[in-house]
Amino acid sequence: MEKTLVIIKPDGVKRHLVGKIIQRFEEKGLVITALKMETLTLSLLEEHYNHLVTRPFFSELVDYMTSGPVVILILTGENAIEIVRKMVGTTNPLQAEIGSIRGQYGLSHTENVIHASDSTAAAQAEIQRFFK
Ligand code: UDP
Ligand code: MG
Repeated sequence: MEKTLVIIKPDGVKRHLVGKIIQRFEEKGLVITALKMETLTLSLLEEHYNHLVTRPFFSELVDYMTSGPVVILILTGENAIEIVRKMVGTTNPLQAEIGSIRGQYGLSHTENVIHASDSTAAAQAEIQRFFK
């Protein structure tokens, strides 16, 4: 069994997509093993998006990610990390498959509805970070 971390981003919460997104994961067979709602802070985002702090869009990303509450979940299941990334779709909704969550619900490269851990190491670090 694998665990992965998912964040339904502020646009997903504002657009009332939380139920629909969670339903997709539950119907797939993944199990919610933790769930909470909170507004993220700059310091947490600097850690979470450490690979992006020098990028020109970083301040836009922080403004977006702190613009409202997010829903954070741990999902558990066989091959959960890879399966959830597939269900989420590629970063830019323009390239994401239409049947994926970003492909169905996103329009913007920045405001792309959802985050999911992209590797075993990331999943472990992110679970620690968000569920201390
Ligand atoms: N992002 C952006 N512009 C870019 C790349 C990324 O605004 O050119 C944002 C977007 O919200 C993305 C997040 O930064 O989801 C993290 O980027 P990463 O490359 O880790 O993509 P992800 O793992 O979310 O697919
Ligand atoms: Mg990433």
